[in-house]
Amino acid sequence: MSTMYTPQDPIHQYPGPPFPPQQQSAPGDVHEMDPEPDHGEKSYVGFGRLAGRKALVTGADSGIGRAVAIAYAREGADVALSYLPEEQSQAEEVAALVEAAGQKSLLFPGDLQDEATNQALVQATVDAFGGLDILAIIAGTMPTVDSIDDFETATLDHVLKANIYPLFWLTKAASPHLKPGASIVTCSSIQGFNPSPSLAEYAVSKAGIANWTRAMAQQLAERGIRVNGVAPGPVWTPLQPAFVPNEKIESFGSEAAYGRPGQPVELAPPFVMLASQEASYISGETIAVTGGTPVH
Ligand code: NAD
Ligand code: MG
Repeated sequence: MSTMYTPQDPIHQYPGPPFPPQQQSAPGDVHEMDPEPDHGEKSYVGFGRLAGRKALVTGADSGIGRAVAIAYAREGADVALSYLPEEQSQAEEVAALVEAAGQKSLLFPGDLQDEATNQALVQATVDAFGGLDILAIIAGTMPTVDSIDDFETATLDHVLKANIYPLFWLTKAASPHLKPGASIVTCSSIQGFNPSPSLAEYAVSKAGIANWTRAMAQQLAERGIRVNGVAPGPVWTPLQPAFVPNEKIESFGSEAAYGRPGQPVELAPPFVMLASQEASYISGETIAVTGGTPVH
């Protein structure tokens, strides 16, 4: 049987376009995607690389965050799951997978646009697990606005509150608990480097995430805390049918050098590596995972 570790042609390893037309309302549901994404539920095999760690993952119900939560648990970490209240049933599935891996889970619904929610999330994680070693800040929102004539202040406020402020709020709340060897991993995007015209609000937030990652890596270096990021290319997650029009979904991923989108499980290995001690000499870096498209 072929697994994600079997050498094979990566271009044909997972589905490519054309995809069936599909739209969802935000925040979306992995089970309404056709084909259903691979978050590693059946495919991710851990090697104990995060044994004994205590992790907090935002956006953990679906997409990249779901794949990271599953991978972290199978690598030996307890995992706190942050998600929006309407994503409860998807988050419960992830919690069950974390527990099936022999690790503790914590379910924490809440809107991260509110500072107090970020503080409560960190406190609940520390209370449940007795500490915090890994902060994977993956949640994000992606409204599309085609023209500057349609720009609205409220949209930019929303994007920055959801995508940027939690970097500061979560890290400040976590700071007293983070010991040398702790790791923060952020989620930028190819959009943060090569923006699409209709994603200006989102792209500026994703550029900001990569920039924050560099700044915070320097702030926290003297404490032995590493800060890195991942910049995904197109990935088959509910974010896309929730925010992008149908005609772009049908050809989704065709712009990548591989001609297909990534699956969430393909993003998990860099999030694991950056969180683990394997990455001891890596800090301030954002790793592009784009199916062959150059980013920097
Ligand atoms: P996704 O929709 O599965 O995950 C995004 C998650 O963010 C949601 O599940 C939700 O729980 C969370 N979220 C959104 N707004 C929130 C809020 N206000 N409070 C709390 N949680 C909130 O989609 P995904 O593609 O896995 O997205 C994960 C990250 O990957 C995002 O930061 C996104 O920008 C980034 N990304 C995605 C792609 C892609 O093509 N899918 C490409 C590059 C970067
Ligand atoms: Mg979701």
